Amino acid sequence: MRPSHDYIFTGGGLAGLSLIMHILGESSLSQKTILLIDQDAKQLNDRTWCYWESGKGFFDDILFRKWNKAWFHASGYSALKELGSYSYKMIRGIDFYRHCHSIIASSGRVDVVQATVDSITQDSEGVSVQTGEATYSGSFLFNSIIFPDNQIHPKAFPLLQHFKGWVIETEDPVFDPECPTLMDFRVDQSHGTTFVYVMPFSPNKALVEYTLFTPALLDEAGYKNGLQNYLEQYLGLSRYSITEEEFGVIPMTDHLFSPGEGRIVNLGTAGGQTKPSSGYTFRFIQKHAAAVVQALVNDENPIVKRHYLDKRFFWYDKVLLHMLYFKKMPGARIFRLLFSRNPIQRIFRFLDNETKIHEELILLNTLPQWPFMKAGWKELLKK
Ligand SMILES: Cc1cc2nc3c(=O)[nH]c(=O)nc-3n(C[C@H](O)[C@H](O)[C@H](O)COP(=O)(O)OP(=O)(O)OC[C@H]3O[C@@H](n4cnc5c(N)ncnc54)[C@H](O)[C@@H]3O)c2cc1C
Repeated sequence: MRPSHDYIFTGGGLAGLSLIMHILGESSLSQKTILLIDQDAKQLNDRTWCYWESGKGFFDDILFRKWNKAWFHASGYSALKELGSYSYKMIRGIDFYRHCHSIIASSGRVDVVQATVDSITQDSEGVSVQTGEATYSGSFLFNSIIFPDNQIHPKAFPLLQHFKGWVIETEDPVFDPECPTLMDFRVDQSHGTTFVYVMPFSPNKALVEYTLFTPALLDEAGYKNGLQNYLEQYLGLSRYSITEEEFGVIPMTDHLFSPGEGRIVNLGTAGGQTKPSSGYTFRFIQKHAAAVVQALVNDENPIVKRHYLDKRFFWYDKVLLHMLYFKKMPGARIFRLLFSRNPIQRIFRFLDNETKIHEELILLNTLPQWPFMKAGWKELLKK
């Protein structure tokens, strides 16, 4: 079958749309035709992305909020951290989807189809996508759908980052709009590693999110109690209105998501762009999109592989997952030690996989060495 498009995108969420934005912004790719297939019209504010970034970012024009300092709290330690060259940024899903789709519409280069993708295949000539209604063909496929054959391996760590968030409004001013709370571990830890973060929009309005790193989800009442208790105990709030809700589950696993093969490039969570030990994905997706575009511009293979030296970050991730999953040390203690003994910029760089080895040694030295070394050996020897 003759390819109808140069690039087909299956899945137009954060990763698919981010890469399309990068491609549309690259003049040397201006002749490429694009087809985007997603089952969803992306009309809802289904998630909010927060991430730290140094300097100006690709999506700064649509930031909902940006902060230059943030609280960290744990039992026995509280500090307001100046973020230095970093900002903590927030983008609302709906603003992102509208922004991208308006650029897509005005580009005249992207055909958008709303359909459920049943399967994707490839041969030496190109790729093919089957939906219930039609078959599409292209030269390259950028996929961010997690198909059944890319599900998490049974031997991989099955931890989940799961969270429930409420946007609440209060009568009295209780929030400092300049000071979000990045992590507050003072909450009950009986379910496992649990914290709350608070992103203030104004003195009367904030997103408050109750977050756990555990293998099993809670029931509805578990999240509700966690949020209510936090609002009452730490913010002194018993009267407020909930204007929006958010629920999410992000895999925290050492499962090796395939980066793709042949003419199929996997993106986003499906392509391994979720940081296993933190769940942060936004910045990794942006860095990956920039690298894929660079490869396309250079006529190189767009399946961008990690440099072998960068694989050490995956080992650090596995060590932390090991510590949390086997309960070798409470997550609240690990994060308290990290945040009380390191400048926040070093932690950000480490969690972004951007530190140099000497910085990693300094950072790792701020954690109890014996349990981490044992976990490290076990992960090195694990089959
Ligand atoms: C509620 C929530 C909040 C999050 N907050 C943060 C955050 O603050 N910071 C951060 O770094 N990360 C965050 N994440 C993690 C990560 O950034 C997001 O999950 C992000 O959306 C992942 O991008 P993606 O493109 O891989 O997947 P998605 O954005 O989920 O996109 C996948 C797309 O595929 C489509 N699709 C799926 N199956 C099919 C099919 N069979 N046929 C057609 N289309 C299909 C879906 O409709 C969707 O549009 C959050 C995740 C969630 C769930």
